[in-house]
Amino acid sequence: MALYVVTPSDLHDYINQPLHDSTEPPMELDLLITGGTVIDPSQNIHEVREIGISGTQIVDLESLDSYSAKKTLDASGQIVTPGLIDLHAHVYKRHVPISIDADATSLAGGVTTVLDAGSAGSYNFEGFKHDVIDRVDTEVLGLVNLSCIGLVAAHYGELMDARYADPDGVVETIRRFPNQAVGVKIRAGAHIIGSGQQGWDNFKKAVQAARDSETWLMIHIGECPMALPEMIPHLQPGDCITHCFKGGSTTVLNEAGRIHSELATARDNGIIFDIGHGFGSFQWEIAEAAVEQGFIPTTISTDLHLMNLHGPVFDMPTTMSKFLHLGVSLDDVVDMSTTQPARVLGRAGDLGTLAPGTVADITLLEKHDGQFDYTDSYDQIRTGGEKLTAVGIVRRGELHFNSNRTN
Ligand SMILES: [Zn+2]
Repeated sequence: MALYVVTPSDLHDYINQPLHDSTEPPMELDLLITGGTVIDPSQNIHEVREIGISGTQIVDLESLDSYSAKKTLDASGQIVTPGLIDLHAHVYKRHVPISIDADATSLAGGVTTVLDAGSAGSYNFEGFKHDVIDRVDTEVLGLVNLSCIGLVAAHYGELMDARYADPDGVVETIRRFPNQAVGVKIRAGAHIIGSGQQGWDNFKKAVQAARDSETWLMIHIGECPMALPEMIPHLQPGDCITHCFKGGSTTVLNEAGRIHSELATARDNGIIFDIGHGFGSFQWEIAEAAVEQGFIPTTISTDLHLMNLHGPVFDMPTTMSKFLHLGVSLDDVVDMSTTQPARVLGRAGDLGTLAPGTVADITLLEKHDGQFDYTDSYDQIRTGGEKLTAVGIVRRGELHFNSNRTN
């Protein structure tokens, strides 16, 4: 193999070469999306503009003198955003009973990146990588469950037997698969991690695994054996509390109906609060009180799995629409579903953006006006005036329309 040495004169020639050679034919894009309203919070963009794609990448159209396109998509009337990132779902299909198909549900929901929230633990993460991550079109990343078996038998409580807690295995798994295993997960309900000292022991092991692996911890809050403010001193910026608008005995509100001051401070200091809507983890009363008090979560996610896919969650756009109903602006809702989750994943500037040079992961949405019923996880309904639906996605430059669309 010849070694090519770059000399100072090469660099001089490179730096001084003209940006555009007029003899060059115009660049032919593989896909040009025209007419859509582009909302990209990572670049503070909210305007009608064209998006060009060459191969798997977004192209800077402003730097091109002229271009043509093999395929042009007229997205007039649609909203064009960075590919949606669902920060909490379960996609270890055929192994973990509640799991859904990553590609089918992502396409229907306008999602291009999914974070699987701890379906696999140290004993089965390699299988998750082999059978799902390496085979699907969707970008799937995973959190490693503190329980070595993950959620294979979640209904029994994966950490009720303390022997299943495997912090060393979590750290080893993250070291083996650093591009796929991106953090640690614990479901911190008392019927999962145990109550009293056993609950605290499991909680602290999960925290330690996150520190030792130099990643971050996602804590599912259920009916926890400790109060939420008691957890906070153990967390650091980048750690995440999911199901943050759940009802029940453990909520973000204190007895006076106010946000726990420790949580508001934690949010200001960089602790991530994630929705993780799920089957039992989003209550309108909590969400309304929190948003009214200015406590806006960091990220919107679904906790999509087989038990909530057909309601009340359905998909990301439905979950996003619930935040429009709560009075959060469309730009912020998009931010909470693209740029913010990319930041949580340590992928800002790579995912959750339409910046030139990044992977062409794009979502096409429509916003409908009308009357739409939105059900929380406690059978409470609110009627909203706006509804987002997914028209399709571009994943790594490849355009896919959502054939499940009903409106
Ligand atoms: Zn979950």
